[in-house]
Amino acid sequence: MLRDAHEQLDGTAARLQLDPWIHARLRQPERALVVSVPTLMDDGRVEVFTGYRIQHNNTLGPTKGGIRYSLAVDFDEVSALAMLMTWKCALMGLPYGGAKGGVACDTRTMSLREIERMTRRYTSEIFIMIGPDTDIPAPDMYTNETTMAWIMDTYSMQRGITVPGVVTGKPLLLGGSLGRVDATGRGVSYVVTEAVKLLGLPAKGLRVAIQGFGKVGSAAARLLHQAGYTLVAVTDILGGVANERGLDPQTLQSHLQEGGKLFEFPGGDRITNEDLFAVDCDVFVPAAVEGQITGRTAPRITAKIVAEGANGPSTPEGDRVLEDRGILVIPDVLANAGGVTVSYFEWVQDLQFYFWKEAEINQRLQEIMVEAFRRVQAMADAQKVSMRQAALMLAVKRVADAMRLRGLYP
Ligand code: NAD
Repeated sequence: MLRDAHEQLDGTAARLQLDPWIHARLRQPERALVVSVPTLMDDGRVEVFTGYRIQHNNTLGPTKGGIRYSLAVDFDEVSALAMLMTWKCALMGLPYGGAKGGVACDTRTMSLREIERMTRRYTSEIFIMIGPDTDIPAPDMYTNETTMAWIMDTYSMQRGITVPGVVTGKPLLLGGSLGRVDATGRGVSYVVTEAVKLLGLPAKGLRVAIQGFGKVGSAAARLLHQAGYTLVAVTDILGGVANERGLDPQTLQSHLQEGGKLFEFPGGDRITNEDLFAVDCDVFVPAAVEGQITGRTAPRITAKIVAEGANGPSTPEGDRVLEDRGILVIPDVLANAGGVTVSYFEWVQDLQFYFWKEAEINQRLQEIMVEAFRRVQAMADAQKVSMRQAALMLAVKRVADAMRLRGLYP
C-alpha cells in the first residue's frame, strides 16, 4: 500500500512540478512512533502487541486520522494511510494534516476487557503524540465509539482534566457529534448521487453492490436504500448474499444483531467475495479493506460507478483497468471523506462545548461533499485526468502551497 501511495504522489508531483524538497518531504512521515503494548489477558498471560502512531504532515493544522486494530497493521500500512489522510483533509479544505494509528492484533479472538486493557495501554504509550491541538484519533477498522471513549478517558486521566477533543467518533454523552456514526456512509451516498447526475443515469432504481458491512458499508447501504437505490449484493469477510430484487439493509442489520452471519441471511443467495465482483449492478461500493480491486477483479466489475468507501481499495493496476473501461471511480480521498468531515465538526463542537443539531450537521456535510465532488470533477475535465488524479492534484497542491508559504525552518 505504501508503494502505491508513493507511486500516486510521485505521479502527482511530476504533474504539479513540485519543488524537489517538498516532494521528498511529503514522501515520508514527519513523525512516527512504534510502541510495545503489554496487555494482561484474561488467562493471566501478558501478551505484547505492537502499536503505531504516525503523523504524515501537519502543515495545515493538527493531524487527524483513525486507529485500526488488525493483524495487517504494520509500519508501512500505517504510513500509507497517514499520507492518505493528509490528502483527504487537504482536499476537503479542513484545517488538519494527516495521521494514522493502529495495533497489530485480532480483536475477534479477544474479550472486551482484553481489548479495553490493550487500548488503554496503547493510549498511554502514544500519549506524547496525541492531544486536541496536536493529533486527534478517530475510529477505523475494528475500533468504534467504545474504543474512543476508553482513549478519551485514559488521556483525560493522565491530564487530570476531561479532554473530549482528543478523539472524535466518541459516544454522544462524552462529546460525540450527532451524525458521526453514519457520516462516512452518508458522504458516500452524497457523492454517488452527484456521480449519477453527472452520468445522466435515472435517480431511482439503480442497483448497488457493497463489499463490507461494517460502519461504512452498512450506513452506505441503508442511506442509498433510503435514497431509492436497490441493494442487490453485500458481503463481509465471511462472504455474503445477493438478490436481484433487492435486500433490505435494516433487516440485514437485525439479522446480524441477532447473531446471524451475513452469508446465512435467508432473503438472498449465498455468494463469496469473489462472486461479488461479477454481480450485475450500476454502483459498486468497496467498503472493506485495501487492495480488493486488482488487475484480476477489475475486469469483472459491471458497475458504471465505483465509489471507494474503503481506503485504498483499488491497486494501481485495478485502477487502470477501471479507467480504461470508462468506469467512473470516485476516489477514496473524496468518497469516504464524510467521516473526517463530521469528525472535524465534532472537534469544533468539543472545543466550544456547544453542540449542533443533526440536520445542521448533515446539511453542512452535504455542502462540503458536493462542493468537493464538483471541484474534483472540474479539475478532471480541465486536465483530462481521472477523478483520483484530479483529487490528488488539488490536495497535494494545497499542502505544497502551504509549505511554501510557511517556508523552510530554520
Ligand atoms: P469496520 O471494521 O466497521 O467494517 C469492516 C467490514 O469489512 C466488516 O464488515 C468486515 O467483515 C469486512 N471485511 C474485512 N475484511 C474483509 C475482506 N477481506 N473481504 C471482505 N470484507 C471484509 O470498518 P469500517 O470503519 O467500516 O472501515 C471500512 C473501510 O473504510 C476501511 O478501509 C477504513 O479505513 C475506511 N474508512 C472508514 C471510515 C470510518 O469512519 N469508519 C472513514 C473513512 C474510511
